[in-house]
This record gives sequence, structure tokens and C-alpha cells, in this order.
Amino acid sequence: MAIVEPASTEASGRPRLRLRNPATLELLDEFEVQSEADVRAAVERARKAQPEWAALKVAERGRILTRALPMMVERQEDLVDVIVRETGKPRPEALAEVLGACDALQFYAKRAPKFLADRTMPMHLLRTKKLRIAYRPLGVVGIITPWNFPFMLAFNPTIQALLAGNAVVLKPSEVTPFSGVLVQEVLRSVRLPDGLFQVVLGDGSTGAALVESGVQKICFTGSVRTGRKVGEACGRNLVPFTLELGGKDPMIVCADADLERAANGAVYGAFSNAGQVCVSTERVYVVDEVADAFTQKVVEKTAALRQGAEGEFEVGPMIWPSQLEIVERHVADAKARGAEVRTGGRRNPDHPGLFYEPTVLTGVDHDMTVMCEETFGPVLPIMRVRDEDEALRLANDSRYGLNANVWTRDRRKGERIAKAVQSGSVVVNDCMLTYGATESPFGGVKDSGIGQVNGEAGLRSFSHAQSIIIDRFGAKTEFLWYPYSVKKLAWLQRVMRWVWGTPLGRLLS
Ligand code: NAD
Repeated sequence: MAIVEPASTEASGRPRLRLRNPATLELLDEFEVQSEADVRAAVERARKAQPEWAALKVAERGRILTRALPMMVERQEDLVDVIVRETGKPRPEALAEVLGACDALQFYAKRAPKFLADRTMPMHLLRTKKLRIAYRPLGVVGIITPWNFPFMLAFNPTIQALLAGNAVVLKPSEVTPFSGVLVQEVLRSVRLPDGLFQVVLGDGSTGAALVESGVQKICFTGSVRTGRKVGEACGRNLVPFTLELGGKDPMIVCADADLERAANGAVYGAFSNAGQVCVSTERVYVVDEVADAFTQKVVEKTAALRQGAEGEFEVGPMIWPSQLEIVERHVADAKARGAEVRTGGRRNPDHPGLFYEPTVLTGVDHDMTVMCEETFGPVLPIMRVRDEDEALRLANDSRYGLNANVWTRDRRKGERIAKAVQSGSVVVNDCMLTYGATESPFGGVKDSGIGQVNGEAGLRSFSHAQSIIIDRFGAKTEFLWYPYSVKKLAWLQRVMRWVWGTPLGRLLS
């Protein structure tokens, strides 16, 4: 059973895809895969609309975009319905997407005038000049998104790119296209210039066409495998890009951790969104002296989680069948190499959809796939370690570096360990959080990505920091201009000797 599968091609000859709800397997809808020509036409329309938008003041752009907020609050149930229909996730998790989108819209719209304001910098050496830095829009930004948070991960970069004065063409995942269309519906309500924001639907071929379409930036969120292809294409075309990719986030539990809080955090961090969060906790290193007590708590709390498709439950289905197969492969590999399944470890037989039981594994080691590759599902392997040094060494023994979490009652120690973890971000005594903490820059190191989104720097990354140097005094010539002479050379040498060769020169430069 495929949740996204080919549908019969209409007389137009254009390929179509059909979607099913991953929780109930009920048929949802069909959509047409947009071609390379469609994508190019969308980018062309966006290009025409962009100058009028870029001419507005940043505050005005923010004022227009925030008109969407009352509608998002008012129609939150409708928005949640669409997200739940195509992901099957629990309503609180779908609402968290809408909530996160509202927060991002208000946060950036309010602060964008400051974050994107021209800055004047004193010049440390060329005192006769003035430097202005102006954050200029890039043009058309292509945004390509995955299926795990289909609304929020599409909405947030879109509004940041728009606030920075760009036009946007969004390509949502083929697994969750209607949450992408939802972004369009929300923004249609604020009456943007025609063509300024468009959604193109389709699969990887549509995404690849967007990368090749002549946009001025690609903001990609998805797997390492696709990220590599996108990065290669952007490199070939000299298009700036950010890649927000997968992770294998470690959790380090120190002997002095609050075990009750840590166990609750482990269970939430591993199983929310059925483990399909880029910053899900995917492996735990717990020091020997508290390992039994911690593991016992985690197993009990995990076994108490409810799965379902409606009503009250905590853990929804896998959203994409291929991901379910990866989960099964990782658990089978761990079992074959001696890991013990403490709870879960199979598809949930009580539901027709893509449900995998929340699973805790112990007796794992670093050769197992479940400890080195992104699982992206409801599986939590727990490894007992001698001490915090071993935990840190193993946490860093990974090709990924997206997020991590550290648990200790000693906050200084927590911060010290956090700084030693090789990852884009770290949370102490909490989990995930980073993407939702709007102020925080977010992005991975190692294979987890290139560049960052969110926060002040993330918003600015949708613009080009244009340097404007202005001469202040209008002298007829400059010392460094022609003609050259021996005298001028000697003077420059004296300047070098004084500025960088004396303590006073270094102090003043
Ligand atoms: P994916 O890479 O399969 O697909 C992501 C998007 O890329 C989809 O829209 C897809 O249609 C498109 N695409 C596919 N081939 C393409 C190509 N050749 N050129 C351009 N676009 C192409 O990822 P997925 O399975 O949808 O998402 C899950 C992955 O996303 C996980 O690895 C997860 O960790 C990662 N993720 C990362 C973050 C983050 O912020 N770091 C956030 C969420 C998800």
C-alpha cells in the first residue's frame, strides 16, 4: 500500500498522484504533477511580481502579511483538519504547526524592520569613508519542503522570504501537498500581488525543476540524500542555498539528572509526531549508575502511550510507507545483533494504517544501524555507558549533527557538555525545542545541513547584504590612486610598520 501512488493519467497526458490518509488508508484526493514548463512559468510570474513588493517598506510588508493572523486563529480547526487528514497526526500536534506558524509570522513581521534595517558601520582604517550595509531582496526564492511538519515548515520560510522582499515559489512534499496549498489559502486572504507567492505541486521531478528554474535562492528541507542532489545542482548553477537535513540526535543522561523529567523528555522527544521530527531523540546514552532506573521509567511511560486515528491518543501513524519500512529494517537489524525489545517492536495490529508501536530497545551498540542511521520513526535505543566522557564520545561518533539534549541538575556542567557536542544546536534539560524557539538560529553541522534558518540571521539569509561605501570628503584624488612612486611606497611601508608593528598601532587599528 502506497499512501502516495500514481493515479490514472487524464486525457492531458499529465501524470497524476493519488493520496490516502496514513492512519485510516481512506482515499483523499488526486493532484497533477507540475512539469518543468509549469515551474518555469510560475517562476517567471513571481519574477514579474517581485519588484512591486520589494518597493514596499519592510514594515508595510509585515503589516500586510500579519493580516493573516486573525484568519489563522479564527479558522484554526479547518487548518488542523487538513493537516490531520493527510498526516494522521494527533490534533494537538497539528495545532502546534499552526501555533508555530502564527508565532513565526508575528515574531518576524514585528522585528523585520529592525533586523533588515540599513546599518552604518564606522570604518576602522578608512576614516574618510562611510560604510552602509543594506539588506537587499534576492529576487525569487524556491522553497522545497518535506512531509513531517507540512504546514509549519512551508509557512515559516515562506513568510521570512516574503518579509525580506522576495517572491516565493513553494514545492511541498508530494506526500502532503494539501498542507502546502493551505499556506497559499492563508496568504491569499491577505491579497499579495498576483504571482508573488505560488505553490507548485509534484514529486522530486518538480522539485528538481524548481532548483534549475533560475531562482535566486533555494531553501531546502528534507533528507540528506536529496539535499546532496539539490546542493550539487545549486553549486552548478551558482545559486545560494540552505540545506536543512536529517539528524540522529543523541540524548546524554548524567548520573545527577532528574530522572523523572529526563524519562518524560526521552519519551516525548522520541515519540512525538511518531518520531518523525528532524530533531527527534534517536539514541540515548545513560551513565551506568542510573541506567536501570532511567530505562525502567522510559519503558513504563512508553508502554502507556496510546495510538489512534481519532479521539484522545498520543502517537499517530508513520506518514509515508517507505519510512515505515526503514523503521522495520532498523529494528530487525538491532534484534539480529542482540538488542532487546523492551516494549513495542512491531506494526500495531489494531489499526489498518501505518502504525508502528512506540519501541524501546536496550542492549544496543554502535555497529547497529539504529544507532548510526536516521530512523525517523518511533524507536528509542538506550545505551548504557561508563561515564559522561564515554557518552560524549559516542554522541559525537556520528555523521549527523543536527540537535542534541543533555540532562543534569548541574546547569554549568550541562552547558559545558553542550559546547562539546558536535551539533548545530543543543538543549539542556529539555528536548527538540530549537526549531520552535523563533529567536534561535537553526541548522545542522556535518551531514545534517548547510546554512541556518530562523532568528535574525535566518531572516537576513533571505537577502543579500549589500555593502555601500561612501566617500565623505570629496578630495580630488586618493593617496593610493595613480601615480605610484618610490616615495609613496616608502610611506606605505612606514604605515605598515607603525599600524601592525607597534602596540599603540595595534590598539588603535
Ligand atoms: P525528501 O528529501 O525525500 O523530500 C523533501 C522534498 O524534496 C520533497 O518535497 C520532495 O518532493 C523533494 N525532492 C525530491 N527529489 C528532489 C530533487 N531531486 N530535487 C529537488 N527536490 C526534490 O525528504 P522527506 O522524506 O520528505 O523528509 C524527511 C527528511 O527531512 C528527514 O531526513 C528529516 O530529518 C528531514 N527534515 C529535516 C528538517 C530540518 O530542519 N533539518 C526538518 C524536517 C525534516
